[in-house]
Amino acid sequence: MTKPLQTTITHLECSRCKKTYPHTQLKNLCDCGGPLLARYDLKAAKKTLTREALRSRPTTMWRYEEVLPSREPVTLGEGMTPVLHAKRLGASMGLSNLYIKDEGLNPTGSFKARGLCAAVSRARELGVKVLATPTAGNAGGALAAYAAQAGIPCVIVMPADTPLANEMECRAFGADVRKLDGLISDCGKYVAENKEKNGWYEVTTLKEPYRIEGKKTMALELWEQFDGKLPDVIIYPTGGGVGMIGMWKAFEEMEAMGWIGSERPRMVTVQASGCAPIVDAFEKGVDTAPMWPNAATIASGLRVPKAIGDFLILQAISESKGTAVAATDGEILATSKELAAKEGIYAAPEGGATVVAARKLAEKKWIKRDDTVVLFNTGCGYKYNEAWQKALENS
Ligand SMILES: *Cc1c(COP(=O)(O)O)cnc(C)c1O
Repeated sequence: MTKPLQTTITHLECSRCKKTYPHTQLKNLCDCGGPLLARYDLKAAKKTLTREALRSRPTTMWRYEEVLPSREPVTLGEGMTPVLHAKRLGASMGLSNLYIKDEGLNPTGSFKARGLCAAVSRARELGVKVLATPTAGNAGGALAAYAAQAGIPCVIVMPADTPLANEMECRAFGADVRKLDGLISDCGKYVAENKEKNGWYEVTTLKEPYRIEGKKTMALELWEQFDGKLPDVIIYPTGGGVGMIGMWKAFEEMEAMGWIGSERPRMVTVQASGCAPIVDAFEKGVDTAPMWPNAATIASGLRVPKAIGDFLILQAISESKGTAVAATDGEILATSKELAAKEGIYAAPEGGATVVAARKLAEKKWIKRDDTVVLFNTGCGYKYNEAWQKALENS
């Protein structure tokens, strides 16, 4: 990529109070505390971001350059992951159009690559000196990789019981890794308390505007991969909810560009029973989710007791007529094995959780036999030796 990309970004806008900021300013949250969203000149974007043009573009997420924020991205080839027709798994739950988008094939083995790629690209353009993030595992690995390529030092704060692979990759990429006894929320506190005196720019989930931009490309890809249509149902393992919020934002932009009409896939959040704040809030019909006490699950990416964008996740679920489902660790491990044995996909437990939700919703007839359903396998099983060891213990 030698030619600068043609972004049509115009400004940042608060998702809560709608206050705007220049996108040329380095900013975390809005002054009101709401997450900021990037806005684009979609009339201009529409003219050049066409199906015709897409034919000759690179098979990375940067093929959607008009609606991405960076001119000169730091890239490792992220995006355009395959959508696989899961025929045998689908048949086992009476579904003929069950698909898996395998995000485990991204650089650093998870879809966190998309978000951190966009965040680091912008951070470099805006002159950031040191990057920092709390992580449940994969965000740290992705940040460390892109920061390495960008030549920007980074600090990564993770719970002491994060999967070993995540710590190893961060250290290999040269990051300053700090382990804390606690949850990702405690790691978040550590970053927030130490950033000012150390001059760190934090790229914590939703506390900077561009991770959402990277993750929204999953929705644009689905539209291309389903030949200009969207699936009926999307099942997404939700931690901080960046992907849910990102895809929901993408649908709005796609409608504004004339790619789709007002139709939307039904958005399903799946969480682990040991940490299910969004499921609980959805069932109670409230629009924010309180801190989940004693969060515990083998699906480390879902161990997010409090999501700063909870109201945006819940909005996407309810506006799309979606739903929210919890899965126990036992169910998650069993379906992860089933996914591997039936489809040859070695998934992260978070990916396994989507299979639990699909089966429960098919049993309830919430998903109909011919619905097109996409499950997101958000990470690669090779990073989860501890979880897989547990899954295979008695087999
Ligand atoms: C981070 C992570 C999630 C949760 O993603 P959000 O978009 O923040 O909800 C799910 N699965 C894996 C493997 C992750 O690393």
